[in-house]
Amino acid sequence: MERLKIVVRGAVQGVGFRPFVYRLASGLKLKGWVLNSAQGVLIEIEGGPNDLSDFSRRLRSEKPPRAIIQSCETSHLHAVGYKDFEIRESTDEGGKCTLILPDLGTCEDCLREIFSPDDRRFRYPFTNCTNCGPRFSIIEALPYDRANTSMKKFAMCDDCAREYRNPGDRRFHAEPTACPRCGPQLQLWDSLGQTVAEKDAALLRAAGEIRAGRIVAFKGLGGFQLLVDARNEEAVRRLRERKHREEKPFALMFPSLGVVRSHCKVSSAEEQLLLSPESPIVLLKRLADVSEELAASLAPGNPNLGVMLPYTPLHHLLLRELNFPIVATSGNLSDEPICIAEDKALERLRWIADCFLIHNRPIVRHVDDSIVRLMAGRQLVLRRARGYAPLPIAVAPKTENRESRIVLALGAHLKNTVALKIESDVFISQHIGDLETQAAYDAFVRSVADLPRLYGARAEVIAHDLHPDYPSRRFALEQTGEKVAIPHHWAHVVACMAENEIAPPALGVSWDGTGYGVDRTVWGGEFLLAKDRTFKRVAHLRPFRLPGGEQAVREPRRSALGLLHEIFQEELWRREALLAAFLPNERKVLRQMLEKGVRVPWTSSAGRLFDAVASLIGLRERTSFEGQAAMELEFAVDPAEGAAYPFQLTDADPMVIDWEPAIRALLGDIEGRTLPGAMAARFHHMLSEVILAVAGKTGQERVVLTGGCFQNRCLTEDAIGRLRAAGFRPVWHQRIPPNDGGIALGQAVAASWVK
Ligand code: ZN
Ligand code: ZN
Ligand code: FE
Repeated sequence: MERLKIVVRGAVQGVGFRPFVYRLASGLKLKGWVLNSAQGVLIEIEGGPNDLSDFSRRLRSEKPPRAIIQSCETSHLHAVGYKDFEIRESTDEGGKCTLILPDLGTCEDCLREIFSPDDRRFRYPFTNCTNCGPRFSIIEALPYDRANTSMKKFAMCDDCAREYRNPGDRRFHAEPTACPRCGPQLQLWDSLGQTVAEKDAALLRAAGEIRAGRIVAFKGLGGFQLLVDARNEEAVRRLRERKHREEKPFALMFPSLGVVRSHCKVSSAEEQLLLSPESPIVLLKRLADVSEELAASLAPGNPNLGVMLPYTPLHHLLLRELNFPIVATSGNLSDEPICIAEDKALERLRWIADCFLIHNRPIVRHVDDSIVRLMAGRQLVLRRARGYAPLPIAVAPKTENRESRIVLALGAHLKNTVALKIESDVFISQHIGDLETQAAYDAFVRSVADLPRLYGARAEVIAHDLHPDYPSRRFALEQTGEKVAIPHHWAHVVACMAENEIAPPALGVSWDGTGYGVDRTVWGGEFLLAKDRTFKRVAHLRPFRLPGGEQAVREPRRSALGLLHEIFQEELWRREALLAAFLPNERKVLRQMLEKGVRVPWTSSAGRLFDAVASLIGLRERTSFEGQAAMELEFAVDPAEGAAYPFQLTDADPMVIDWEPAIRALLGDIEGRTLPGAMAARFHHMLSEVILAVAGKTGQERVVLTGGCFQNRCLTEDAIGRLRAAGFRPVWHQRIPPNDGGIALGQAVAASWVK
């Protein structure tokens, strides 16, 4: 038995939606309730997994004719034992804030118009209606009126104004509505910013450029994208070189679901995600036999592809013209936020792009493409931006008055998002990025001002990370009001508990690469027992040294050396075979560092343990993007291998998980020439066994899996399976990323708990 919580937004009120839900649920003998709220239609429904997935599918496919679903967010929760299905009284509990809708993928009606030669919007790339089109990316202020959007500079023509004023029309109060006569238009610029074509001719020429293997900077919905023919290896390589993006996978846009199917395995749940109004990038398993039709350097060594379908009329028109998959990657210099304005794009991207397909509808704020994957049969959001932001996550209602304070949470240093908690709604910003560049920091400062201004709220509490050197913490200290520092791994645990609607007690398994711990060392392999709204660190991985600190993040061989040094100490330097990854002079320097204790910080990081094992097995010694070594270790796993490496759990307080027996067994395997797939599998299984063992010691039924390591499908699904088999109730992320993109939510909720 499972419980689904579904929030449906769109034209779903006053169209017979609740009776429809009632009939559908009763027909499937599912229990629970449905109600109208300020948030949309809320549904809670319980039953067996098959009936529930049937219900979700038919909720979309059999909806009443006049109902339109703009957004539908589902969470899987533990069952509570409803006895029947009922239509409940409407509430106005929560949702006192006006909802700002995210940007929505083009609806079928608009799509039909842009491909109908006799329609007045034929081939018009900025067609939209009340059911689709830009929202969050064009809103300057509330209330949501045209005058408060970047469409204000376009005066509606008589035809558009008539539709806009007609309550019977699909464009009644469609704020961004436009047509070829009165709305935004396209231009194609060369790399110097000279206009070379306009309107439809610009689109056709841009298509020609892509066909000819050139790189097009494309002003999309929430920012610029860089487009190139995904089948053209030479062109994809040129894009990598110019963008300084060595190996990190590129996202693809396919012309149709049919073409996706010819390259990737697509389950019905994945199909629903691809076709949803959110239309995110979905990570799909690629089919081995057709892989040579796509450029090899799209996602080197990666069995998955990040795939999306066209989601604006402009994308639809372009892809219809091309009819082949293209790379659609963010238009930025490696780690900066995506460009939103033509002048900035021209300045930043002219060295990358051969031409610019632009338009004159201003983008108010950057909104990246979102990324999702299936995890244990459920949706898992890895990057929450277009289609999702800034929808709130509803958290448990307050139990004390202090909890109604308005909290502004500044998020993590990497994959930053910020959040604003107002009563039981947490509004989470779009993905901002790594706060390592000035451009990213500026975007952070803008977002921090943006959210409270949009919702007309003044933060009473500012929540920030504990790390003394993070710019977000320095920013917090400059603000007036109460500040609360939230430890990184606690924020992860609280975020996961909040979205799964779990109150303490629970056991948090918080595993990632880096986070500042309360003992001032680098944490990352933590077990935090949540109790009475605070936590106790009940267990952690045995610490080891990271030679070179931050440098070790980019060089897994350094993590390996740190591990080996813990095991062998002095003797390590006499074991030539273990030092093969280093040149003789490198060994000398590293040895001095380790002996003198200089630039060799301690860590209990699970992410670095993954790195170390990837390096020992010989998969990767240096990385070009975050998490690369751990990903490759996951991809290497041989599913036929069932064994697990041994480990030890010491009975200290906190307990220490000693990986030494595992590493010794691994070294034995390497010597015995065991295949990497078996070694990778044994390592993953060992980690699940660790989780199971600690859960057993603490006796907590509910186990919360969070942190960047739980983006790893093999680890997460294996841990869930073992925990369930032993009678535990594991929960993991669904709507909020397990990585640092989820930290802001955890900070906001944890700060509201602080006495
Ligand atoms: Zn539409
Ligand atoms: Zn018009
Ligand atoms: Fe983290």
